[in-house]
Parts: sequence; C-alpha cells; structure tokens
Amino acid sequence: MQLDLKKLFESGDHPLDFQYELDLSDLEQWGEKPFRTPVALCGQVVNRAGIVMLTYTAALTYSTKCARCLEPIRESVQMKFTHTVVQQLNQESDDDYIVVENGVLDMDELATDDISLELPIRVLCSEDCKGLCPICGVNLNKTTCDCEEPEWTPSHRNPFKDLL
Ligand SMILES: [Zn+2]
Ligand SMILES: [Zn+2]
Repeated sequence: MQLDLKKLFESGDHPLDFQYELDLSDLEQWGEKPFRTPVALCGQVVNRAGIVMLTYTAALTYSTKCARCLEPIRESVQMKFTHTVVQQLNQESDDDYIVVENGVLDMDELATDDISLELPIRVLCSEDCKGLCPICGVNLNKTTCDCEEPEWTPSHRNPFKDLL
C-alpha cells in the first residue's frame, strides 16, 4: 500500500489511519517461505508540531522448523514499530529516519524490511531443546539413545604413540 503523506506534511489536522493485510508468502526466511497467511498491519501517521511519526503493529504467523530438532513450529507474534518520517534529511547520519522525497510512503516495502529485521536469526521449539543425536538422528526431546559421544582419550593427545 502507498501512503500519501503530502497533506499530512502540510498540517497536523488529519492523522492518517491505515489497516490492511500484506502478503509475505514470497518472503524467504530461515531458508524457506514461512508466512503462509497474510500479515495484518494496523497503524497511524500523525504530524505533531511538524514532526511526522508513523506507528504501526504487524500481527503475523510463521510456520517453520526448530533449528535444532527440526520439529514443526507455528508461532504468532505481534511486532510494534515507530518511525519518524521526513521529506529530506538534514544530516546525513540520521538513518533512523524514513525519507519520502515525493511525499508517498511505500508501506509494503517498509513493513517487509521491518519484519525481516525483527525476526529471530533462528527459531527453537524451546530454549532448552536437546536437538537430534548427531550419531543416530533421534529427537532427544522425545527419546534417548545409547550412542556415545566420541571421546578424546589420552592416547589422542600423543600423535606419536603408535609410532613408538
Ligand atoms: Zn527443537
Ligand atoms: Zn543416538
């Protein structure tokens, strides 16, 4: 959705409310496309004493796999974002600002970037997920196995032992 903020930059009389669904089914994260249902966006842009602020929430559900045990995970989260919107930058270092040079904000692009940055780098089914056995591959959250971790015995510390 394109948000036309031209009037809003001129005066603070009319805050702009928006609410719509954004399709992120093509967005890749964690090596797959986890957004099978649209993301619900709801927000407002206001001009307070010449400062244009955008605040919005994104309610989304993702389906993916635990990074350790590969069990399916389906999680719903709500994210909240706030940005200051300007028509031009006064100082080059202000990269916290969203610049809309022609007065029109591409909300889809902004929300896609915001959500991607906010998502965790990897998803676990639980903080203490035990993962899979590296030898036989069973899910150690559900069962145990008799595999033994390879151990470093003292003989490994002396690579010349067998030569002597
Ligand atoms: Zn897990
Ligand atoms: Zn095992």
